[in-house]
Amino acid sequence: TRTAARRLDSSAKLVVLAGPTAVGKGTVAAHIRQHYPDVHLSVSATTRKARPGETEGVSYFFVDDVEFDRMVAAGEMLEWATVHNAYRYGTPRSPVTDALNQGHSVLLEIDIQGARAVRRAMPDARLVFLLPPSWDELVRRLIGRDTETPAEQARRLETAKLELAAQGEFDYRVVNHDVGEAAREVVDLMNLRTAPLLP
Ligand code: 5GP
Repeated sequence: TRTAARRLDSSAKLVVLAGPTAVGKGTVAAHIRQHYPDVHLSVSATTRKARPGETEGVSYFFVDDVEFDRMVAAGEMLEWATVHNAYRYGTPRSPVTDALNQGHSVLLEIDIQGARAVRRAMPDARLVFLLPPSWDELVRRLIGRDTETPAEQARRLETAKLELAAQGEFDYRVVNHDVGEAAREVVDLMNLRTAPLLP
């Protein structure tokens, strides 16, 4: 396959993938998990409930407020944020540093506040902003995935406007026209050494 011949460059990179709600960050991250097994995908902890089809320890670590507080107080979070004024999400620190120390590049799929916090905590991190092909397409994707109530969708679109305004703070911008192409661009930004592609 295309991916079988890929291997990591000697210097492991921390890459943050952020972008507005519904742009497809999760889909791009899932594609990377499936097709680029050398990349370590960080699993966040969250206080929100699992959605149908989500798996504990793969999608997220689903924790209650008490456990989230404990993790923050114990310094176990590399970063954390309250997202969409609702639930808390955070990146457990030690899996990230362990993977980097073992020479694996690490991908964090987090929100923009989290990206800013990672920049402060780990200045070598590469920040990637995933863009929708257009605003109309973003609206279409958010409504099309049908996982939020209309009120929640409206709130997320308001947030998305603010989020899009933050793109200038990022090192790279990738437009998500096609999930496979976007995933490939993100992985290329990690300095993966790639073998010539098969026809
Ligand atoms: P969802 O609830 O749809 O899975 O995710 C909502 C938002 O939380 C997304 O923008 C996602 O990128 C963000 N998010 C997920 N994990 C983390 C995390 O560990 N830290 C931060 N700051 N944001 C996160």
